[in-house]
Parts: sequence; structure tokens; C-alpha cells
Amino acid sequence: MERPRATCREWKEPSMSDQLTRRSFLSAAAVGAATLAACSNKGVEEGPIDAADLVIRGGSIITMVEEGSYAEALAVKDGKLVYVGADDGVDTYIGDATRVIELGGACAMPGFIDGHIHAPGPYLTEETEIAFLNYDVDLEVYKQALADFIAAHPNYDIYLGMGVDLKAFPDSKGTNDWINEVCSDKPVSLSDVSGHGQFLNDVAIELCGITKDTPNPPSGIIYKDGDGELTGYFSDCGAIIDGYLPDFEYTNEDYRKAVMGFLAEANSYGITGMDSGGDSIPRDLLAEMAADGTLTVRYNANFFSDATAEAADEAIARLGSEQRYVSDMLTIKQVKHKVDGVPEGKSSYLLEPYDPAAGTDPDYVSSPANTQEEMTAFTTKMNAAGYQVQMHCMGDASVRMAINAYEESRKANGDPDVRNKITHYNLVAKEDVPRTAENKIICCMQPMWFYYDPFFSPLEEQMFGAERFASEYHIRDLIDVGVMITGSNDYPVTYDFAPLHAIEAGATQCSPYPGEDEQVDVYTRNADQAATVYEMLQMYTVNGAYAAFWEDKAGTLEEGKFADIVVLDKDPLSCDVKEISDIAVLYTISNGNVVYEG
Ligand SMILES: [Zn+2]
Repeated sequence: MERPRATCREWKEPSMSDQLTRRSFLSAAAVGAATLAACSNKGVEEGPIDAADLVIRGGSIITMVEEGSYAEALAVKDGKLVYVGADDGVDTYIGDATRVIELGGACAMPGFIDGHIHAPGPYLTEETEIAFLNYDVDLEVYKQALADFIAAHPNYDIYLGMGVDLKAFPDSKGTNDWINEVCSDKPVSLSDVSGHGQFLNDVAIELCGITKDTPNPPSGIIYKDGDGELTGYFSDCGAIIDGYLPDFEYTNEDYRKAVMGFLAEANSYGITGMDSGGDSIPRDLLAEMAADGTLTVRYNANFFSDATAEAADEAIARLGSEQRYVSDMLTIKQVKHKVDGVPEGKSSYLLEPYDPAAGTDPDYVSSPANTQEEMTAFTTKMNAAGYQVQMHCMGDASVRMAINAYEESRKANGDPDVRNKITHYNLVAKEDVPRTAENKIICCMQPMWFYYDPFFSPLEEQMFGAERFASEYHIRDLIDVGVMITGSNDYPVTYDFAPLHAIEAGATQCSPYPGEDEQVDVYTRNADQAATVYEMLQMYTVNGAYAAFWEDKAGTLEEGKFADIVVLDKDPLSCDVKEISDIAVLYTISNGNVVYEG
């Protein structure tokens, strides 16, 4: 693509008679530099005036200010961009102590912002929970892994695990007999890949007091076999499980170690910002890490709440007390509510019944966690207090409830700038798409779920039926009506949270992985719904920044913003789209500091 170059039309040669001090001239020149990329900077005398800490030059710099906007060089001082513009304008920022990164043809762009992540994920539970994600999807392998874990931790009161894949079971129907065979004297609780489903062994079921006659909790399912007996698999049943089983307690030091490990991985993918999908990291620890420079990813924190008026009062009180922790690296102003569950758990709340192939009652649509009235009251209160609401919705009925709540809140509160979000937004009724845009709702979506995964997608197709399955994730339609989408991988639900993989997936609607990406027939889902590469980059930069209230801080490379930058070995906008997932991250710069070198 031909890069637009500004001409020198507006350039005015400064002179001493302009009464500009050297410093103000520099900043004036720098402000104009993006549009004056090819102009020389003759008015500047030699030698650094106010040397930068870091200069990047010698390649393409995608600013993300608008499509086609490139710079040649940038300078960073005290964590912020002090110059973004033409290469010959950056010399003056280079002093003896300035670190200069010569791109040598590589590419720099704003650091990636993941729009929905559960930090620190399994890093926290490395010692206390077995991560089945690290094992082959095979019941015998799972059994052995669990037995080994129990043998290695004989003193634990409970055995916890995460990431059990339903694909390990015949017809993806989860049961607990394999767990009972390994452990029959202590409780075992293992969550599935989605984090919404849970396996309990018989000891744990007894501790929770659950029997085959226990009614399903709101938006949850107690799975039973053909004879009406418990299978040991539960979907979204926290209401009848949480609090009944022993749990581990983590100290701030445990959290610090876990968060540091997680951040190092995030930085290695070029991530410099993240929006929480719900997390339990102590806020005082986050504030401490922001202050000592170890929080190397800008963070919009978030916690789970029920959606009632009383829950709103509690959430508002908590958020109010946590405002003392807020800084440029740490935003604390949102709350998350889970409206429904997941398709494969048959807990997504649907407008029309599940497909007969799902094996549910003919009129079964699942149910929401709260009533519409409760959700609306919750949202209206949170927004009135200036806080952002994020709702997890995977079915078209739950999406509609969230839109209704946001719409009512907007009316009641006079369109406050609260940037409400719907996360996942898999399935939506056609008539609700324009309402999403009208109510300025941000959709936090997961491009790694857009393509056809031969293992997972058939399961979802079975639950929804072919027609509804085909109508999921129509991002092209959403973008075209003006819905803002942020990109994320929902780590650890999708364990691979490298944005470059997701960016390729969204731009191709096909698997980004080698060996799969050429099998277009197998791995492509809605080819006509592909976003452009630039739109995918927007999701992971500017849109992510906006969703986290950072539009003055991050998301683009502009003077005055913080220097959150990723250096890539190739320009994703000019390389072949299938090469995007193979692009190497060379440097990640957070808040002006190089935090990763590839
Ligand atoms: Zn999530």
C-alpha cells in the first residue's frame, strides 16, 4: 500500500522573530510532524535540547491515528511520547544517554490492548490446581495427571483443577466416574475449559448437599444421565457449590509472583494494556506494583457482581473505596455481571429453544441469572455513579437483556459516558444489532472463536442448530453499523492469548495456525464477515484504549500519550495476511520502559 505523505504546504519556516523559545518550537514542530513527515527541520540548532530516554527510528511506525497514518521516528521521555514524526526531526532528541532502537525495516505500533482477560489465570494456581490445559485431551491422560497431582500433594484438603476439555468424553458428555476412581476420600472440583462448567467427585457433591432432586439454580444446569442420576458435571452452578467446599487462600506475595509471571508472558506478545474480564487480584497489590514499576501492562480492573439494586450499592461502595489505588497504570471503575453461561454447557440464554440435537426439553432456552428488572436497576445505579458495566452474554436472549438494561440506564441517566460492554456477544437477534450501536455498547469479542474449529464448532452447532450457528460472530455487520468491538482471547479460556494470532484469525475467519491456515475449506467459518487487518489492529489498540477510558493515554502513537509500543519484525498492514501470526515481537515498551526483548 502506498503510504500517504503530507506535503510541506502548511509548513512555516520559524525564525527567532517568531518569539518561540527553542522548547516551544520543538514541541510545535513535533505536533505538526505527523503531517509534515517529509519536511526537514531546518530551524533547529544542533545538539540535544532535552534528550529523550528512548528513540525509535528507521522503519515504519503505524500511529493508528487514522488509516494510512505512518511516522518515521519517535522519541520517549519520562514514559511519554515527546516526538512522533519524520526521521530527520528526531536527531535533536538524541543525547548521550538516549537508547536508540534502529528498526532496520521493522515496524513499530501502539502496544496491544487485550479487551477481556482473566489475569493472572493459572499462574496463581500453579501450585494448588492442576491445569489440564497442559495435557492431551484424553481421559486416560487426565486420570493419570490427576493421580500424579494428588500423590504430589498428599496433604491438601481439596484437589482443584481447571481446563478439563469436554472433548475428552464420548459425545462430549462429561461425567465424574474417572475422578471417583482416582479420589474417593477428599473433595475434587475441576472446572472445564470455559470456566463455566465444573466436575465434582461424589465427596464434593455430598459436601455441597446436592442430590438428584436439587433444582437447577438460576442460569445453571445440574447434569443428569438418562436415569435421572447425577453425572457429576455442573454448568454455572456456583450458587449451590461456592462456599460449600474448602478453598486455598492466597497472600499478596502469591499474587505478586503470579501476576509477574503473567505480565512477562503478556509483554512477550506485545501486550501493554488489558481490560479485565473479572479478577480477584488485590487492588492494594496492583497499586503497589503500579508505583514500583512492576505493573508492566496498563490495567482496567474488574470484579464480578450479582445484578440487583442491592448488589449495585455494594459494588459502588467497593469501587468508591478503591479509588485511592487509581493511577495512570491502573483504572478501577467497572463491574462485571454474568447474565448467562456457555453454549456447550447449554446455559446460554436463548430466544428460541435449543436445537433438538442438544437433547434438552423441546422448549428449553436456559435462563438468566437475574430478572430484567434487577439487571436494569443494577445498571442504572452503577452508571448513575459513573461506573462502567460489563455483561457476559452468550445467547441472543441474554444479549437482548443487557441491551435493554443499558438502554433504560441511558434514558434514566441522560447518556452518561460510561462505555458499557457486552462480552462475547456470540449470538444476537438481527434487530438488536442497530440497538447495540445506538446505545454505544462496546462488544468485547474473541477473534480466535470466529473460525471453524473442527473439534469445538460442531459441539456449538449441535446446541444451536446450523442456522443460528452460522449467524454467530458477524463482525463485518457489526462494524458496518458502527458497533465498537474490542479484541481479546479471554485467557485462560483460550490459552493462547497472542494478539497477532487473533488479528490474523479475525482478518481471515480461518485458523491462524501453521498447518491449519492453508486448509481454508476446513477452518473457515464466515468468510464474508472478515474484518480488514486495520480494523483488527483497531480492536487491539484504539478501541481497547477507548473501552478502558485511556484514549488520552494509549491506543495510538501521538505526542503526549504514554509510550506503550510494540516493535514487530514485519508490518502487519503490508505483509501477507497469512503471515501475521508468524510476525515476531522484537520489543515491547510499556510506559516508556523496554519490558520485553525478543
Ligand atoms: Zn471471560
